[in-house]
Formats: sequence, structure tokens, C-alpha cells
Amino acid sequence: MNADVIVIGSGQTGVPLAARLAEAGREVIIVEAGHLGGTCVNVGCTPTKTMVASARLAAIVDRKDAIVQQWRKGVGRRLERAGGKLKLIEGQARFVGEREVEVNGERHRAETLIVNVGARPHVPPVAGLGGVEWLDSSSIMDVREPPEHLVVMGGGYIACEFGQMFRRFGSNVTIMQRGRHLLPREDTEVCEAIEEVFRSEGIVAVLGAEVVEVEKGDGEVVVRCGGDRAGRPGIHRGVRRLSHQCGGRIRRRRL
Ligand SMILES: Cc1cc2nc3c(=O)[nH]c(=O)nc-3n(C[C@H](O)[C@H](O)[C@H](O)COP(=O)(O)OP(=O)(O)OC[C@H]3O[C@@H](n4cnc5c(N)ncnc54)[C@H](O)[C@@H]3O)c2cc1C
Repeated sequence: MNADVIVIGSGQTGVPLAARLAEAGREVIIVEAGHLGGTCVNVGCTPTKTMVASARLAAIVDRKDAIVQQWRKGVGRRLERAGGKLKLIEGQARFVGEREVEVNGERHRAETLIVNVGARPHVPPVAGLGGVEWLDSSSIMDVREPPEHLVVMGGGYIACEFGQMFRRFGSNVTIMQRGRHLLPREDTEVCEAIEEVFRSEGIVAVLGAEVVEVEKGDGEVVVRCGGDRAGRPGIHRGVRRLSHQCGGRIRRRRL
């Protein structure tokens, strides 16, 4: 199929851009490999904000799913309103030429191609991760029972958001942050204020602790850490019990 514009991805920019170009008379194809609305609507801002202030996890996950569905339908309606010049193709776009993509075995060409493929959770190269169960920022949002103890690797915005959320759901929460503060991009005063709030809520933040290895134990996951470098966002994992070794000292706790 030929078009004036092909937009790959229906996230924050893809949808309004595709809709407005079609409304302005251009022939537009928008291609989406996953759910309409991208990260923000499905596994990012909207579902986390729905969950963060609440207390009963299973009911909250149902409510989150209902709100995500509602927003996803809203994105679909926005595309429909753009009229006949906008075509949605559900599938994975793959470049097969300079101005040509293939989706579901069919080729589509356009003068302009816009790549709005967004973000995915990053899995850090921590030894042993393949041998234990872990969650990332998307899969953690489908957990219906709060884990007894959640270890969060990384102390950035998303890590802190899930740490606080699961503490409020009733989990013991330990945040392993390799930088000297949580939210390392913020001013020190802001970091310290957030750390105080977290302490008062019973969240344990282990600072200057880079997770280097994880290992399956007897009904527990052992997290080994070391280092004292600048922080970076990480992934999130659920465990029943935690042992962690930091800076050569071994601390073991049963929950
Ligand atoms: C847990 C979490 C919480 C967040 N909270 C906030 C917040 O509070 N405030 C804030 O401002 N930001 C927040 N963000 C960040 C925000 O969600 C993203 O910055 C934003 O959604 C990025 O939008 P985007 O349009 O660039 O990409 P996305 O929304 O990721 O959209 C890209 C789309 O492209 C599709 N796609 C990818 N490859 C292909 C392909 N080859 N073919 C077809 N389709 C493809 C994907 O399926 C996806 O739907 C959060 C993110 C996460 C993960």
C-alpha cells in the first residue's frame, strides 16, 4: 500500500500526529505492534498513577485494567475521528527499504516515515538473573498479591514509584540504589526529603549498593551488591525472603 506518511507506533506523539496529518488531507498509515496508546496509556503513567494511592492490590489491578481499557478505547476513537485518510494496521513494522516497511507480510511505502517506537524495560546485566524469577515495570502491574518482600533494583523515579506503591500495599520493600541518593537527578535537598518520607513509611533504601549478582536460595533470593557509583533506574523483583550482601558484610533477614 502507498501512503504519504507512515507512522510506526501509536504512543504519545504517533496518535496526534497521524490524526492531524490525516485530517489535513494526507494519506496516513499508523502501525502498532502492541496495544493502542503505547507505554503511557498501557504500562506507564496512567496505570501507575491509578495504583499508587490505593490499598487493596487485587481490586486496584482490576480498576487499573478498566482504566487502561477506557484510555485505549479513547485512543482508538481519536484515530477513527481522523476519518478515511488514516489507516491503522496492527502488527510489527520492519524496515525493508529506505521508505518501505513490512507489516504482517505486506509492504507499505511512503515519502515520510515517522518512527515513534518508544521505550521498553531495560534488563541490566546482573549475573544470575536468568536463574530467578523477576518482574519489570510492566509485569509488576499484573501482580495481584503483594509479595512479602519486594527488592527494587535502582532508585530512579519508576523504582521509587513502585517501591512506595508496594509498601502501601503491605510489602516490605528494600530499594538497592548504587548512587548516593534516591532520585539522583534531583537536588540533594529534594533527595534527602524523599528519603526521609520513605524512611517514615518503612521503606529501606540501601544507598551506594550496586547489585552485581542474584542467586536462588532455599525459598529466597540472595542479592549481592557492591560499588558506589552514580545511580541508574533498574528493574523490580518480587521475593519471599531476602538475603543481601553489601560491601563485604553479610546481612541476612527472614521475613
Ligand atoms: C512505569 C512507568 C511510569 C511512567 N510514568 C510517567 C509519568 O508519570 N510521567 C511521564 O511523563 N512519563 C512517565 N513514563 C514515561 C512515559 O510513559 C514515556 O515517556 C512515553 O510513554 C513515551 O512515549 P512514546 O510515544 O515515545 O512511546 P511509547 O508510548 O512507548 O509508544 C511506542 C509504541 O510503538 C510501538 N512499537 C514499537 N516498535 C514497533 C514496531 N516495529 N512496529 C509497530 N509498532 C511498534 C509499541 O508497541 C508502542 O505502543 C513512565 C514510564 C513507565 C514505564
